[in-house]
Amino acid sequence: MVYSYLNHEKGNDNFWDGWKNLWQLNVAPKVKHFIWLLFHDAVKTNDYLYRLNLGPQTLCTFCNLNTETVEHLFLNCYKTQEIWNITCSTVSKPINLSDGISSKLWLKQELTGNGRFIQSIIASTVWFIWKARCNKIFNNVQLDSYKVSCWATGHVREFSYAPSPHSGRNFILNNYTFADSPILLTATAFNANNSMDGLGFIASDYNANMLRSGCCWCPANSYLEAATKAICFSLQDVIIMGLHIKSILSPCADLVNAVKTDCCLDIWRLHPQIIIIKDCLLRRLILNWMSIR
Ligand SMILES: [Zn+2]
Repeated sequence: MVYSYLNHEKGNDNFWDGWKNLWQLNVAPKVKHFIWLLFHDAVKTNDYLYRLNLGPQTLCTFCNLNTETVEHLFLNCYKTQEIWNITCSTVSKPINLSDGISSKLWLKQELTGNGRFIQSIIASTVWFIWKARCNKIFNNVQLDSYKVSCWATGHVREFSYAPSPHSGRNFILNNYTFADSPILLTATAFNANNSMDGLGFIASDYNANMLRSGCCWCPANSYLEAATKAICFSLQDVIIMGLHIKSILSPCADLVNAVKTDCCLDIWRLHPQIIIIKDCLLRRLILNWMSIR
C-alpha cells in the first residue's frame, strides 16, 4: 500500500514504468525495499551521512581509498568489482551496469539486455554487498568476495526455484539459501558417567528435505571431543556418499571457534580431527561454519 501510494504520487518520477520490474524481481521483499531506497538516494553510505552533516568524511569501508558513494561502494570499488566478476562467471551471462547502479536503467531489459534473472542478481548482489559492508563496520568481519557472490546468486536461485513461496520465506528468515545447501547438522549426547557418546547427524537440502542421516556410539572423554568426533564421523559419511556439504551447524561453540580462529585446542588427541575439518574448509568444500548456540 505504501509503495502503491508513493509510486502514484503526482509530480515525481514515481510514474517511472520500470518500478513494476523492481516489484517482480525474484528476491526477498527486504531486497526490493533496499533497492527502492537506493533509487531514492536514501542509503546511508558514509558519503550520505557526511552530506547531511551526520558523520565525518569517512572513506570507503572496503578499500579506504575513495569517497563511499553509492556508485563507488556498489560498483566501482576494486573490492566490489571482484564480486561482480565472480558473479558474472557464475551465472555465465553478461551483467550490464554501464549506466551505474542508481540510474535504474539496469531494470530495463530493452535498453540493457538484462533479463529478470540478471536484474534479480544485480539487486541481490547490491543487498549482500551492503550486508557485508555493515558486517565489516559493526562486527569487523573482513569482506569475502566469493561468499558475497555465492549468497547473492543463491538468494535469487532460491526465490526462482523454491516450490512454494512459504518454504522460500522460511529459509530466508533462517538465513539459509540455496547456496548454503546441503546443510549438515550434527549433535552429540555426551555421557560423563561412562565416557560413551552418541553421535548423530542430518544432512538436509535448502528445502529441509533430509538427504542423509546417521548415528553411532563412540568413546569420548569430554563434550568437546564428542562434538569434534561427531563432525568427523558425519563428514566422512557424507563425503563417501558424494554430498558436497556447504554449511555445518555444530552445537559446540568452542569447536567452531577453534576451527575459525586457527588456535589449537588444549586436547592434543583432537588435532587429527581438527586437521580433517580444516582441510575441508580450506578446499572450500564448506562455505559456512557456524555454531547453533
Ligand atoms: Zn572502495
